[in-house]
Amino acid sequence: MRIIIFGPQGSGKGTQAELIARRHNLPYVSTGDIFRYHTKNETELGVKVSQYLSQGELVPEDLTNQVVKSRLDQPDCVTGFVLDGYPRNRKQLDFLNSIFKIDFAIVIELSDDEAVKRLSGRLACKCGLSYHLEYNPPVKADLCDKCGSELFRRDDDQPEAIKKRLAIYHTETEPLFAEFEREDIFYRVDGSRSIDQVYQQIEKVISSNKK
Ligand code: AMP
Repeated sequence: MRIIIFGPQGSGKGTQAELIARRHNLPYVSTGDIFRYHTKNETELGVKVSQYLSQGELVPEDLTNQVVKSRLDQPDCVTGFVLDGYPRNRKQLDFLNSIFKIDFAIVIELSDDEAVKRLSGRLACKCGLSYHLEYNPPVKADLCDKCGSELFRRDDDQPEAIKKRLAIYHTETEPLFAEFEREDIFYRVDGSRSIDQVYQQIEKVISSNKK
């Protein structure tokens, strides 16, 4: 089963995609996580992309498509995957269509106001977990519950970068939905609910439409 989870930044798409992946025993593939890993470890790719990430801009197509292809070509993706953060524009969708057929495209809907509110309180950990000062605080202030590392605010969660990322989502990513709608594999869920309620909506979509 090949699933794409869409949603504006702050909609919780990463959290939901991971939950869905775990539940269905599929790999969770996040282009944002892959790029952040390379940036943090200062790999050759990381050096090339760090500027784009910190400013909330899209990494150029050739690099992104190459990263996605090499990840989706790994043996663990043979039975499917849950994709988060890709495709984000027409060229990426065309590339994805040339290598895989998708079964579900699910968008977690959230207003810009709510997205900004959520992102402004978000704290990240280098182990990949993320928290929110109001909705999902760590047990000990500023420390990760899982690995104990100090939490930080992502560069791309600064106000200017947030605005830029939301604008890209509206102008470049949302227009792709029409294509999934035409293929009858497109579903919307309400992202303003709790993590568990959003998860239940997505599970319902998958279980009622599995072919
Ligand atoms: P995310 O965690 O999905 O919000 O991604 C964080 C950042 O990684 C984005 O703001 C972009 O700079 C970069 N990125 C992630 N996915 C893509 C993509 N599909 N195309 C281009 N850049 C991406």
